[in-house]
Amino acid sequence: MMYKYLFGPIQSRRLGRSLGINLLCGKICNFNCVYCECGRTERLTGQRAEYVPRNEVIAELTDFLTTGPKLDYITYAGSGEPLLHNGIGEITAFLKDNFPLYKVALLTNGAVFVNHNVIDEAMQCDLIVPSLDAVSPDIFNRVVRPLPGTCPDAVIEGLVMLRKKYSGALWLEIFIVPGVNDTKHELLLLASAAKRISPDRVQLNSLDRKGTEAWVKPIGQETLQVIAAKYFGAFSVDIAAKKDQ
Ligand code: SF4
Repeated sequence: MMYKYLFGPIQSRRLGRSLGINLLCGKICNFNCVYCECGRTERLTGQRAEYVPRNEVIAELTDFLTTGPKLDYITYAGSGEPLLHNGIGEITAFLKDNFPLYKVALLTNGAVFVNHNVIDEAMQCDLIVPSLDAVSPDIFNRVVRPLPGTCPDAVIEGLVMLRKKYSGALWLEIFIVPGVNDTKHELLLLASAAKRISPDRVQLNSLDRKGTEAWVKPIGQETLQVIAAKYFGAFSVDIAAKKDQ
C-alpha cells in the first residue's frame, strides 16, 4: 500500500523511532513561524476541519501497524498544525483501542488549546509537545506571525489548563530566534510562563535546517546551555542545537 498520510518511520533524536502522521494537505497552520522548516503557511486559518479523510488515515495505520513494526512513538506532525484536523481525537481513540501497545505523541503549537474542548481530544496522547516562543505580543507576532487576534496570554492559559487536566508527559519547546526572543526581558517572561505551565521537560531549539525566512540564524549549543542554566534552571532541559562555531 502506498501511504499518503504516514511518513517514516524516522529516527528522531527526542522520540526515537517514530512513525509520522500528517493530517493536513499542504501547509495549513494558525501560525506562519519565521523558522518553520515546512516553508511559508499557504492557508493561515484557525478553522478545524477534516482536511484529509480520517477513514483513509485509519486504513493506512491499520495496514502499517498490523505488521507489528517496532516503534517508540506514532507522532502527529507534518505540514502544519495537527490539532486543526477535527478527527484527531477519533484517530487517537482508534489507535488506543486497536493498537494499545504503541505510544502516541503530538507536536503542536499549542494555540488551539485556547479552545479548552480541544484539550479533551488530545488527552489520549502519551506525550504532548507544545511550543511557546514568546510572551510579549510584539515578539510573539514577529516570531510566529499568527492568525490575527491570537493573544499569547490566552495561549499560555490554554497550556496551563492542559497541564491541569492532562496527566501524560508534557514537554515545552522554545525556539530561540537570535536577536528577537533572546533578550533578558523575554527569557524571564518565558521562564515565568514555563513555571506556570509546569512541563515535565523544556526543550530549547535552534535552527537546524533552512527556515522560512533567510534572516533567521542558528544559535549554538553553548549559548543555549548558558540560557538554560540562567533562566530554566528549575527544569530538566534538552538542548537541540549544533556546537557553537
Ligand atoms: S506552528 Fe509549526 S507548522 Fe505551523 S508555522 Fe510554526 S513551525 Fe510551522
